[in-house]
This record gives sequence, C-alpha cells and structure tokens, in this order.
Amino acid sequence: MPSGKSDRTSSFAFSRLPLPARDFGNRIVDLNFDFQTPDRVGLAIRIVAASLHDADEDPDATEARASALPLSVRILQLLRLVSTIEGTKTLELTRSCPRPDCAEPIELALPLEGLIEYGARPVTARTNLAWSVPGASGTTITLRRPTGDDQRGWQKRRYTTRAEAARHLLETIAVDGREHLDTMSREAEGDLANAMSEFDPLVGFQMSTECPHCDQPVTLPVDLEDACLLRLEREHRCALDTIHELAASYGWTESEILRIPRNRRRHYLNRIHAATSVRRDPGATTR
Ligand SMILES: [Zn+2]
Repeated sequence: MPSGKSDRTSSFAFSRLPLPARDFGNRIVDLNFDFQTPDRVGLAIRIVAASLHDADEDPDATEARASALPLSVRILQLLRLVSTIEGTKTLELTRSCPRPDCAEPIELALPLEGLIEYGARPVTARTNLAWSVPGASGTTITLRRPTGDDQRGWQKRRYTTRAEAARHLLETIAVDGREHLDTMSREAEGDLANAMSEFDPLVGFQMSTECPHCDQPVTLPVDLEDACLLRLEREHRCALDTIHELAASYGWTESEILRIPRNRRRHYLNRIHAATSVRRDPGATTR
C-alpha cells in the first residue's frame, strides 16, 4: 500500500468551474477546431477554453486559463462536453485484448455520468498529494496534479530514456521535498506512482473487465482524453455535414443553420433525403 496521506487544507475550486451550458457542435467556434492536428494537447486545451470562455474575456487569456488547469480537470470538462451531445450517455471505444493468444477487439461503453462522478471526487477533495517516503520517518514529498502547461513543457524536451522522462515529470510536479526524489529506491518510486494513480485516477485510467472472446480478466489502459476527442470529432463532422446539406438546399448561412433547433434541422434533412431518394427511384412514389 502506498503511504500517502491526505492534504485537505485546500481544495481545488472545481465546483466553481462553469458547466458548458450548450451542446457541443452548436456554435461557430466549434466548427473551427482542427481535429487533424498532431497537437492533441493543444486541441484539447482549445476545446476546453471555448467551453469556459465568456464574452468579456480575451480569448488568449481563456486559453491560458485552460492550459493551466490540471489535466484531470481538463478531462472532466471534455467528458462533460461529450455528455452534452444529444442522446450520448456512454463513451464508446474499442481496445484489443492484451493476451497475445487472443488479441480480439473488446468493445467498451463507459457510462459518462459515472466517470464524471468518479473523476470529480478526488479532484474536489485534495489539491496536492502529500506522500510519506517509506522507511524515512517524517520525510514527505508533496506533488500537485500535472497541468496542460506542464505537458507543453515536456513536449519541448528530449528524453533519452523512459526513466529520465518519469523523473523529470515528478520533479516538475513536486511542490515540496523535491530533493528526496534523488535518494528514493526503485520500489519507492513504484509506490509513489501507484499513489499518484489513486490521487489522479482519470490520468492513466484503466478499465478492468472480462474479455468476451477468451473469458479471461483483463486490464485495459484507456486514454480518456483521446476517446473524448474522437467522439467530439464525430460530432464536429456531423455538424459540418448537416450545414453542408442545409446550405446546399436552402442557401442558409452557417450561423442561420446553427440557430435552428436540432429537431427542426432533422426534419429538413429528412425532407431533403426523401426528395433525393424519390429522384433516384421515381417508382418509390407509387409503392
Ligand atoms: Zn481475450
């Protein structure tokens, strides 16, 4: 068991973060996201910034605010955005069974509400992890959650080994007791990594389940941020397709189409599709 202890003196003001008050894909700003960019961290930060932005704030200042958020809070906000998509209650993804003799695809459907609750609880409870170094009485290392700013800093560096990267990550997020990292054993480093996973469960999220093909218990790593971005990308493409079809048929602008409630957009699309199928198959009218 990791020998972490609680630091409840201050809690992150997650509850004060505004909830997105609209569904994703319904504003011009949502159409501008470039989902093909290789900079996934930047994309996630810009999407979260757009969800937090209010008219009085300079957009660069909002992006800086989103970049400074802990990664887990950013994931929570993305999960919330996905949950605003009409009819979306689960985050669906496919992973391969990790057993080499199976390797079959496993479909996962993670309940969004449960994930948000699971991730929000530790974030609101504690700002920092105060971790007692095993076997060194009174020696404590205090870590904070990594932020988008940290990730952007790490992306600019070159690491020769995985251990070097892991050590630099810890050094970046250590707010107290950084010097103890140098004298820590490998085993203690593993304990600290476990304590950090418990403290920040949405980062490095894992799903335990049973493979439906080989019936064996498996643990699957799930990149929640990437899964959210993929779902939002699907919604983004869908919004662009709808705009294309309605603009081509009625000559409306993007802004005009986005102001039309979704149920009416669906009605117009159905009319367009019905007319298209009649043109393709004139006999359809007599059936
Ligand atoms: Zn399997």
